[in-house]
Amino acid sequence: MPNNLAGCDLHLHLAGSFYAEDLLAIGAPIFRDLDWNRRDFLSGYNTSMATNLDPVQLFAQALDHPETGFPPLKAAYVFGAEDSGDFERFMWKYRLFSHVWSDGWEQGRKTAVSMITQAVNHHKRQGLDYAEYRAGFWGEDALLRQRMQICAETLAKLSDARFTARYIVPLPRDDPMPTYAQVRLLLEEQPHVAKTLVGLDFASREEGFPPKLYRPFFQQLQKDNVTNPEQWLSVVYHVGETFFDKSLESAARWCHEAALLGAKRLGHCIALGLDPAVAVSRRPQAHEAELVSERLDQIAYDLRYANPLRTLGVRIDEAALRAEQAALLQRADDWVERPYTSQRLQEVRQRQTFVLQQLAQMRTVIECCPTSNLRIGGVPDAEHHPIHRLLASDVNLCICTDDPGVFDITLASEIEWVLCHTEYTPESLAKRLGDPRRFALQNLTAV
Ligand SMILES: [Zn+2]
Repeated sequence: MPNNLAGCDLHLHLAGSFYAEDLLAIGAPIFRDLDWNRRDFLSGYNTSMATNLDPVQLFAQALDHPETGFPPLKAAYVFGAEDSGDFERFMWKYRLFSHVWSDGWEQGRKTAVSMITQAVNHHKRQGLDYAEYRAGFWGEDALLRQRMQICAETLAKLSDARFTARYIVPLPRDDPMPTYAQVRLLLEEQPHVAKTLVGLDFASREEGFPPKLYRPFFQQLQKDNVTNPEQWLSVVYHVGETFFDKSLESAARWCHEAALLGAKRLGHCIALGLDPAVAVSRRPQAHEAELVSERLDQIAYDLRYANPLRTLGVRIDEAALRAEQAALLQRADDWVERPYTSQRLQEVRQRQTFVLQQLAQMRTVIECCPTSNLRIGGVPDAEHHPIHRLLASDVNLCICTDDPGVFDITLASEIEWVLCHTEYTPESLAKRLGDPRRFALQNLTAV
């Protein structure tokens, strides 16, 4: 394939990269000793999936009688098309592996290295030549640094002339600074890690965490990057993936704001590509209510961008917005409800266009993960997938897998999905997307 689009994955969660075969290989020596009830895993899984999972028996059968025993293990783990739309069910299936994963890390460096090697070797066999892995760890400060170091060093060791692995550390949205401080300390203590540890990510639940919360973080990061250019860290940012807590205007604005803060690549941005009429049809009264604080931020945004929005056909009545602003300032902790009209839906389409144009100007990249969006992103079907709008715009775009092991997909199958559900040919898609390796974090440094 021209440019080899299927060789470079820029949005990959390491703990979601393990296929059912890897789960079996890693779980084989330990499955009988694992405490499957730890952190209520078994009861939570069984309640959510309405089943009666017996992991010990599943592993034993899969090992003793692979032909008949492996498919049930795979079915218990893979989050398939039939599971679509339910994020909670996704998390329980994801935890089937992360249960094994966290136990492996408790056992120490040797097991951790062998688990990472298992996932990376699987990607190498698939023909990947460049991958950026996101992996968050836990534990008190020294242990957290040790685990991040093991991860970075293992990825460095697995890199060779034909394959490059890089490491991105996710920061908790509710309190990013302590983890960020540990990353900086690790880079100071172990400068060799900087070659592999190149980025930070904002991931997991985004609802309730507006980008504006992270302005102080981005200011600090910029300062630290200028002071330590050898240890430059870029930010990737999950946004516009799940946004039922707010209006469609605010959801599109968040994507813009994350880019304005300095994020180099944005994960998903479904809010910029899903048609607003489809978005509001997903639930009763979807996107009608939002916090007054969100509405106030939206008013300030509309006043700031009044002229370019008007040029695109969005009505901006500045006097009315200022009057609404004054009234809302009296009730800052409340919610506002604003039902949609067909005109408002049409204006949201124009707002999506506006943000896509802004991202294109800033050279911000959108990481689109087709299957992930369908299975856990609330995208109803291929026809209404946000990728169609994203491809039609000028925005920098790359195709990625998110959690290929849990979804049982490959980057090649995601590219095939795009070719199958759009008018693009391998050549025209390669031309539209260009080489995704130019969006590798080390290439976006200081841009
Ligand atoms: Zn992700």
